Amino acid sequence: MFNKLIAATLPYMPKKLVWIFSKRYIAGETIEEAINASKELNKEGIKVTVDLLGEFIEDLSQATENKEAYLNIIEAFQENKIDGNYSVKPTFFGLLIDEEVCYQNIRTVVAKAAEYDNFVRVDMEDSLCVDREIKLFRRLKAEFPNNVGLVVQAYLKRTLDDLSNMMDMQNGSSKLNYRLCKGIYVEPAEIAYKKYEKVNENFIKGLEFMFQNDVYPGIATHDKNVVEPAFELIKKYNVPKDKYEFQMLYGVTPELRKMITDKGHSMRVYVPFGKDWFGYSTRRLKENPKMAMLIIKALFNR
Ligand code: FAD
Repeated sequence: MFNKLIAATLPYMPKKLVWIFSKRYIAGETIEEAINASKELNKEGIKVTVDLLGEFIEDLSQATENKEAYLNIIEAFQENKIDGNYSVKPTFFGLLIDEEVCYQNIRTVVAKAAEYDNFVRVDMEDSLCVDREIKLFRRLKAEFPNNVGLVVQAYLKRTLDDLSNMMDMQNGSSKLNYRLCKGIYVEPAEIAYKKYEKVNENFIKGLEFMFQNDVYPGIATHDKNVVEPAFELIKKYNVPKDKYEFQMLYGVTPELRKMITDKGHSMRVYVPFGKDWFGYSTRRLKENPKMAMLIIKALFNR
């Protein structure tokens, strides 16, 4: 109740106050800040995936601007020799306005990344977007077999079926590459597991499917109750270290991150940056009111 109240009032809180909470989770507003944060992570042997903040847009001119912004980011990151790849949210490129325009925008970004032999991850958004994002991924994967991956969400009841259905895309040396996460959006119980245990169980089933089918997983979690069973599966299937990675969000659970990297597992951190940090932070907090308590903690732990 208290958390929900905080989350609801957040968008009306002074930006400075929200920044106190957000700064830990956001690399900054500019490309330079994102590059610096990425360099620091790279120094620790951690790869990054870079995300320009922003989601739903109102017109397609914004989608064009976002595409141009990503092209600049790719140039800047390559120039700075950052060990990292790129994450995109399709709604940011017009998915809910015009699917074809969205496809062309993201295609241009993937083509640019492919010029550098790099990789673009298509983030998964709310359930309204899932079919469209799988379709988009199919088209991109056909043209850029080694330069594009998708996110799948363990809380969705459909995910194990999606994983089976998408296996037709895996052939020869072009493996499927997914980020497996729990899922951040608030979805109805008809389509999504609500219980913590059930989501974790589905996560581990999805991961086991990937190991059994030679799919490359990005194991994206900060939950040690998921990390430990993931370790067990890696052992059970004797998975070589270059056939999977762990992924975490910038600034979240650094101790767990260290525990994982100390064991020699590969780690990638999701580095969000951009002027829209306020919208991003308040949306995240509204979606997950439990996190509102973190604001209070941040206020007292300055
Ligand atoms: P939880 O049980 O939710 O969290 C475990 C613990 O981690 C919590 O107790 C808390 O201490 C800590 N924690 C988790 N998240 C945060 C946070 N944001 N801030 C502070 N502490 C936190 N979701 C999507 O729907 N689509 C995506 O494309 C997507 N991409 C992601 C990319 C990466 C690299 C990661 C790590 C997550 C991504 N997510 C995405 C979010 C994901 O779905 C979960 O909502 C989020 O990771 C929390 O789940 P968890 O596995 O960490 O477990």
